[in-house]
Amino acid sequence: MPDLQAELRRLPSVDALLGHPELLALEAESGREPALAAVREVLDEARRAVRSGAAAPDHPALVAAAAERIRAWLQPSLRPVINASGVILQTNLGRAPLSAAALAAMARVAAYSNLEYDLEAGRRGSRYVHAEGVLQRVTGAEAALLTNNNAGAILLALSALAAGREVVISRGQLVEIGGGFRIPDVLLQSGARLMEVGTTNRTYARDFEVACGAETALLLQVHTSNFRVSGFVHQPTTAELAKVAHARGLPLVVDLGSGVLLDTAAFGMAHEPTVQECLQAGADLVTFSGDKLLGGPQAGIIIGRAELVAALRRHPLTRALRVDKLTIAALGATLAAYQAGRAVQEVPIWRMIGAPAAEVRRRARRWVRRLRALGATAEVVRGVSTVGGGSLPGETLPTSLAALRVASPDALARRLRLGDPAVIGRIEEERLLLDPRTVLPEQEADLLHALERALA
Ligand SMILES: *Cc1c(COP(=O)(O)O)cnc(C)c1O
Repeated sequence: MPDLQAELRRLPSVDALLGHPELLALEAESGREPALAAVREVLDEARRAVRSGAAAPDHPALVAAAAERIRAWLQPSLRPVINASGVILQTNLGRAPLSAAALAAMARVAAYSNLEYDLEAGRRGSRYVHAEGVLQRVTGAEAALLTNNNAGAILLALSALAAGREVVISRGQLVEIGGGFRIPDVLLQSGARLMEVGTTNRTYARDFEVACGAETALLLQVHTSNFRVSGFVHQPTTAELAKVAHARGLPLVVDLGSGVLLDTAAFGMAHEPTVQECLQAGADLVTFSGDKLLGGPQAGIIIGRAELVAALRRHPLTRALRVDKLTIAALGATLAAYQAGRAVQEVPIWRMIGAPAAEVRRRARRWVRRLRALGATAEVVRGVSTVGGGSLPGETLPTSLAALRVASPDALARRLRLGDPAVIGRIEEERLLLDPRTVLPEQEADLLHALERALA
């Protein structure tokens, strides 16, 4: 087919395309290989398109396609986002934002550190000592251990304490946490056998009593953190379960999920059982996340009786699930804020939860003034923020929002998402809503610039 060959010949060579000033400039940033790969990909695609009957794209179009590809490769895939959604612990946006102290602590140990080196003795030490002291002081626990997340913590606890034996749990607590993480599957994975008791809505301490036998390894209580059941429901308290367990010489393990250290009722929400209360009620091991209501880095925290923690530490999974130095540093700094009684002032998620209504309203007003100055139709409206992250389901915080009315809120939301930095709002009733509660004060100038660009 002569005209097909003629079309193919109209495509420039790799070298000719690479010689374009725009691509030369990008190559200086990206290096030779990515520029070459982008140009080859673009030309390959063009050849395929021509073979299937399309006309050869012109030179500027090929340059633009290659340039776009190189620019995309130059951008890190993981990048910062301004969270104006009003969901404080947005799992998709990385859950808890870290405190300034946590960031500084990570930077301080990023090079060499005494991660596993006992400076006093001049020999090998344990990475777990760094967080253990502050966890003991803040929670009252005898001992502590860290994993990469709470899912890992539960898997480790069950593998180390219950493999080949039975774990007794209420049918109302065989939950799915999210991302397909289901308690019955984790039990199976650990090698433990599931002994479910009670019914979906009602389980009593005596159900646990009759289920305990020679094969029982432990009793497991899982905090139903991401949903709520109401009506004709009953679950035994942690104290009741501890009593049943201890009468038989068995441990009670509690997966607390969020691991809150402060009283959520003081912030106008339902009371969430705290880590300290759970230990006081008699739990022998408690596991929770570092990046939910603790407000620290992603981590799994296991606290409780020293001999149980020691058994976990000896298990091979501990090595597979171990946390890195940056996590330990950030967690230590976050916990130090609690120890000093300054978590509400210093830990970003608690500053957000505790932000006074008047302050949120003031910020929303300021944003609306700026938006109006840009010619946009905007107003302050009342609404709610949520805690999110699979904690405190149904609980909301009254908030003030900047509401933007535009012809296409979806198109504006997309422009904001694709901007740099990306901004995430939410759309309700054909308006784009921006919640000041979840926007860190130091991000406010960037947010307003991003809005200006997206509205231009
Ligand atoms: C969130 C949650 C988990 C999982 O914690 P990750 O730190 O995300 O692994 C496990 N159990 C409960 C009850 C949870 O709420």
